[in-house]
Amino acid sequence: MPRTVESPAPAGADRSLTALGWVVVARHREPAHVGLRAPWGAAHLKRIGSQVTYCGAPTLGWHAFWHLRADDIRKWCTDCSAARPTRAVADCLT
Ligand SMILES: [Zn+2]
Repeated sequence: MPRTVESPAPAGADRSLTALGWVVVARHREPAHVGLRAPWGAAHLKRIGSQVTYCGAPTLGWHAFWHLRADDIRKWCTDCSAARPTRAVADCLT
C-alpha cells in the first residue's frame, strides 16, 4: 500500500526530517558554489511553521535547508543536535 505523508514541505525535501515536522535552518548559508547549498556556521532545527528554533533563536530571515538530512550536517548547535531525530528513529516511522 502506498504511503502518503501530508506535509507543507516543497518537492525535493528530504522526508526523514520533514515527515517528523522538522527542517534544518541556519542564519547563513554557504557562499555561492556549484550544487545545493549547506548551512554556513551552526545548523539548527525548527518545527515546520514555527518562527523559532528548537533552542529558541528567532528565525526571521534565516535559510531553510529542505534538502538536507540530519546526517548531512557538519556543525550543529549543541541544543538542536541533542533534539534531532536520529536515522534510526526516522526509519521506524517509515
Ligand atoms: Zn539551535
